[in-house]
Amino acid sequence: MSLKLTGGIILATGENGEFQVLEGSCICIEDKYIKYIGPDRDAPECDAEKDMRGMILMPGLVNAHGHGPMTLLRGVGGGLALQEWLETAIFPIEAKLTPKDIEIGERWAVMEMLAGGTTCVSEMYDFPEATWEVLKGSGIKGNVCRVGLSFSETEEIPKNRFNECVNIVKNLKDDDDRVISEFCLHSEYLTNEGFVRKIVEANKSLHTNINVHVSETRREHEECKQRHGGLTPIGYLDKMGILDENTYAAHCVWVEDSDIEIMKEKKVSPVFNPSSNCKLASGFAPIDKMLEKGLNVAIGTDGCASNDNLNMFEELHLGSLLIKNKASDATVLNAGQVLKMATVNGARALGRTDTGELKVGKRADIIAVSMDKPHMYPAFDIMNLLVYSAQASDVVMTMVDGKILYENGIYKTIDAEKARFEMKDAIARIY
Ligand SMILES: [Zn+2]
Repeated sequence: MSLKLTGGIILATGENGEFQVLEGSCICIEDKYIKYIGPDRDAPECDAEKDMRGMILMPGLVNAHGHGPMTLLRGVGGGLALQEWLETAIFPIEAKLTPKDIEIGERWAVMEMLAGGTTCVSEMYDFPEATWEVLKGSGIKGNVCRVGLSFSETEEIPKNRFNECVNIVKNLKDDDDRVISEFCLHSEYLTNEGFVRKIVEANKSLHTNINVHVSETRREHEECKQRHGGLTPIGYLDKMGILDENTYAAHCVWVEDSDIEIMKEKKVSPVFNPSSNCKLASGFAPIDKMLEKGLNVAIGTDGCASNDNLNMFEELHLGSLLIKNKASDATVLNAGQVLKMATVNGARALGRTDTGELKVGKRADIIAVSMDKPHMYPAFDIMNLLVYSAQASDVVMTMVDGKILYENGIYKTIDAEKARFEMKDAIARIY
């Protein structure tokens, strides 16, 4: 089955890796792949055609750091400082959650993400098997892990956690690599040397990614230095060998110049979480410096309780404003660079080289953004329009691997009514 998307404005990627805005062109999709992007007159015949006039066709957004099931905790503890927020508001609720709750919360998250143009997400939360099943069933792409935690050097707390981490990577396999299982270290402060070494050792034969929180707060960063003879979280993880694996690191708010050097050398992808860092007043990540050094910076929403939505267009917008203002330089970042963070850079961070760009041979992970509403006209510069004007609600179609999963408010793979009923039921039960 082949499909031709005609009449839209296409945000393609050229041979030089830079975005190209194409008009009078179309995209042909065969099975899961983009087979053709170019002028209508040269396009091959396709089995079906779809009129995309008045829309921008762009790569699907990659949310490189999330905790999807936290939709169940949307807005909980709003206004509290991070430590108090975690201990008094979040942890007591999380302790009650069952695998069924995780399934319900994740499905609710996937609905929000598909409707807002996200085609791939990194998920870090309890009961990853439930998350895996939802991602598989919905058709979206995602990376899933068992949260790596270790509270004692002498006995295993939580019990059996290391084996659970390994079993997720070994047992959750998708022939298609649409959903990927990987390792996770929650952070330097919730693990210890013995556990970290075992994860590094296990990944030597399993060759997946490692997802980790790094230097989110000043306190975490400084306490790490006290614990480890002046080593920062990045310095410590480097010493432990974690950064020799394909590692991506959420937050990186308090990283120092020497950390950025290490991340560059070890090809670590930092993940910027603009809304979450602002809401929890964690600080300003030195994203301008990281980009200057050529780091592969990605963007994520973080969990729904510290954001409080999964709207990647909002992250693009706010992230760009924060970087410019912090650098006191309006020229510091162009809209194309921001869009790359939320597409191809995110895909690379998650170990995916076959998506994140509209290019022949890549997977057909494509979204359509409507230019109908007043805030989308005039459209002098498409990339500026997408970063500074577009809203998640302008997304009218979300396609993953050539399959339309969401179109004009309709979910093709999810029973939205049932999902809403289950969500309300779960909220009543949990609270
Ligand atoms: Zn997080």
